[in-house]
Amino acid sequence: MGLSKTIWTNPTEYLRNQQPENPVLFFAPQTVQATARRFLQGFPGLVTYAVKSNPSEEVVENLIAAGVKGFDCASPFEIDLIRRLDPDAAIHYHNPVRSRAEIAFAVERKVISWSVDSRSELAKLIEMVPAEGCEISVRFKLPVSGAAYNFGAKFGATAELAAELLKTVADAGFVPSITFHPGTQCTDPEAWASYIREAAVIARNAGVKIARLNVGGGFPNNRVDGVSVDVQSIFETIDRVTGESFGANRPALVCEPGRGLCGDAFAVAARVKSVRDDEHVFMNDGIYGSMFEFSQIGIINRVEVIDPNGHRRMGDVQGRVVFGPTCDSVDRLPGEVPLASDVQEGDFVVFQGMGAYSTVTNSRFNGFGELGVVTVLSLKL
Ligand SMILES: *Cc1c(COP(=O)(O)O)cnc(C)c1O
Repeated sequence: MGLSKTIWTNPTEYLRNQQPENPVLFFAPQTVQATARRFLQGFPGLVTYAVKSNPSEEVVENLIAAGVKGFDCASPFEIDLIRRLDPDAAIHYHNPVRSRAEIAFAVERKVISWSVDSRSELAKLIEMVPAEGCEISVRFKLPVSGAAYNFGAKFGATAELAAELLKTVADAGFVPSITFHPGTQCTDPEAWASYIREAAVIARNAGVKIARLNVGGGFPNNRVDGVSVDVQSIFETIDRVTGESFGANRPALVCEPGRGLCGDAFAVAARVKSVRDDEHVFMNDGIYGSMFEFSQIGIINRVEVIDPNGHRRMGDVQGRVVFGPTCDSVDRLPGEVPLASDVQEGDFVVFQGMGAYSTVTNSRFNGFGELGVVTVLSLKL
């Protein structure tokens, strides 16, 4: 992935001038900074960025410039990246399973905030991490609600186990906290509310006053045409329900959005390689490229078709079967994609809201996946 030296006005200007043969991710630094400021001003606590959603240095640098001071990391690579770009940043190592080598690495890099969801991993931390001034957050899960994707399938203790772990954390001299991750692309504030109520019950059952409650990520980005996401009402629900549930024992709040911060700052332009026998659309990007996530949580339908001269195709919108470039039959976008009916070979299909889980899952399968990154002033076509 190379970053172009020139800043273009918008994707259309670049596409018309450069006629790229490979897919292109357009990045709007102003958008990521404006989104970060919305979180920093609206969220009633500390905003940390879940690095895994898009670890590009230009994203991290713009978040730092906008005032983000905390990062949720899941691996030594991510910890090193953040330490290099912001030596003073707060790093939360919130992957609940780590090898001993990874724990030792993070202790050396002065990581003082960890999460756990099991007795075995807590025992490792107690053995290897100095307790003094160090926080361990117990991660719990509820049955899913409101999420596009079930994160509880892999991580999170039951409420009973969480209370036991929390007590062990406090007894071992660590700063006790609780965390959860409601899923991803959650549009219903109730997804957070039910977790926060349960967190208060867990703390009460453990007889532990928690220092912080980390409400995870899961904040949505704009994926659906004509529906704009409302993070402010999620912030308000989190604030209100925390007050109601914890009362005098109200913990400080932390969130760790990934998608919510980076998602809307990128658009992808894929080129139409063929409209095979006037029917199926084949593009140069797909499930093995920047669109892996579509197979998990559905397509983004904020889509426009641009002809090679930079003009928008104006035909009626029609659902089309769309394939990616590889020879694997899995490489098809789920369902149908709403495209202008006059879409033709050589056109560009531009998907908005593509910043999260796109660069990271892009593969070189079949020799495709040469994804360029171009900086633009605005993502409007
Ligand atoms: C992936 C992840 C996040 C970020 O999720 P988004 O849906 O991108 O906001 C936050 N916290 C944890 C623990 C995660 O695993």
